[in-house]
Amino acid sequence: MSTDLPLWFDPSKCLIGGHWVAPAGGGTLPLYDPSTGARIGEIARGTADDIDAAVQAAETARHGPWARLSAAERGRILLRLGQLVTERVDDLARIEALDVGKPLKQARADAVALARYCEFYGGAADKLMGDTIPYLDGYTVYTLREPHGVTGHIVPWNYPMQIIGRSVGAALATGNTCVLKPAEDACLTALAFADMAKAAGLPDGVLNVVPGLGAEAGAALTSHPGIHHISFTGSVGTGVMVQQAAAQNVVPVTLELGGKSPQIVFDDADLEAALPFLVNAGVQNCGQTCSASSRILVHRSIHDQLLERMSARYAALRVGPAMDDLDVGPLISAKQQEIVSGYLNQGADLEIAGRAQLGDMPAGGYYVPPTLFSGVTADHALAQSEIFGPVQVVIPFDDEDQAVQIANGTDYGLVASVWTQNGARQMRLARRVRAGQIFINNYGAGGGVELPFGGMGKSGHGREKGFEALYGFTTLKTVAAFHG
Ligand code: NDP
Repeated sequence: MSTDLPLWFDPSKCLIGGHWVAPAGGGTLPLYDPSTGARIGEIARGTADDIDAAVQAAETARHGPWARLSAAERGRILLRLGQLVTERVDDLARIEALDVGKPLKQARADAVALARYCEFYGGAADKLMGDTIPYLDGYTVYTLREPHGVTGHIVPWNYPMQIIGRSVGAALATGNTCVLKPAEDACLTALAFADMAKAAGLPDGVLNVVPGLGAEAGAALTSHPGIHHISFTGSVGTGVMVQQAAAQNVVPVTLELGGKSPQIVFDDADLEAALPFLVNAGVQNCGQTCSASSRILVHRSIHDQLLERMSARYAALRVGPAMDDLDVGPLISAKQQEIVSGYLNQGADLEIAGRAQLGDMPAGGYYVPPTLFSGVTADHALAQSEIFGPVQVVIPFDDEDQAVQIANGTDYGLVASVWTQNGARQMRLARRVRAGQIFINNYGAGGGVELPFGGMGKSGHGREKGFEALYGFTTLKTVAAFHG
């Protein structure tokens, strides 16, 4: 299979004000194929000057024709964009597979999801309404939902297309303009998407993309006084910096910071149904998923049986280059490989209950063996830290209270699932477990364009996805008219 990037745009440029322009400093950054470690191109190294130009272009655009489009017309542009994405799903999948090392099938699913976000938010654009409020005699009071203005979007490398779809899609549907800073390791589909948005009729300057380093372009975006809202997905440490930068300008922030999401398996669970979810939710995208399920909590009476069956699944996992389209690809970068290998070393004292074999991998690729650890205590580093690699731990529990206590015993609260046939227990745990999304007898990592998504605790705040995201990308104005 060809490993050429099917690009129809120049990735060493930024898209600012509707024009492809070289970064002001003229810099570039190297692009590596995670499957082989080979250098496959270069991207723009945008800096503070480019961010400034992009913010100005977005500011101009928000007062231009974009401001006068009806909500239905904005929706139609998004629907056209969704159609263009659908027509290029295969190109987008191939670009993403080569750029981020995601097996082709998983990259394709991301491109399909991106089209679906455009479709969902295109359809939702003209359905966001205000309220009329009963008030004093002689008054009519109503609320208006208005766009924030210029929105900043910092997107990580793990699911670029899905995260752009959910944040930029909702921002555009509500009439905002956008400046997008994709991750330096994964900016190609962001540029492709912006180019397609132009072709779909999005006015110049409404969506601007500036690739570059987080500490340069990213920091310049989050601290720019011309930004009115920031949407960030990434690590807790960088999220804190983003929130601090936004605070200087008193700007609202949506933070999605990952998790340590548990799946809780009771002794009456349908194990046959649960098994694929238990393993896939941990190894999908090589574990680099904010909502990855990295903790499996299991009732002690079925612990050994479950371990045996998960272990068989681990042994059957096929790992390899993204273009071979197996179950698990490489990690995104040498840096991530080092981080995950460090965690695997921390598990040296633990029992390896399941492990996928790495066969003949390309020597320079960023591979690690998907690994299932058992004999893990709830306070072990591997049971507490977001590893962001294909690593799961199995922890036994004795009763429901203990299961809840372990499930809630990390800093995070993004996603959880409960596997049990007992309806009352399903309802109780849905309330007791701390997470922004609870799945009962399934696990929805990565899916659900329609489902509000976001965290509690250090998983972040604000909600993306679904109709709920539209509230976050608008600000509420109350109009009180006295007419006697
Ligand atoms: P970061 O949080 O540093 O990066 C996420 C995004 O923020 C990227 O676009 C990055 O750009 C940008 N960024 C980095 N520094 C700044 C800054 N000072 N101001 C504004 N934006 C910035 O994560 P890493 O890529 O370093 O990954 C480290 C760990 O973070 C992972 O191991 C994982 O645990 C977690 N993570 C969680 C994600 C999630 O979905 N919740 C996604 C990605 C990472 P650039 O990449 O160009 O530096």
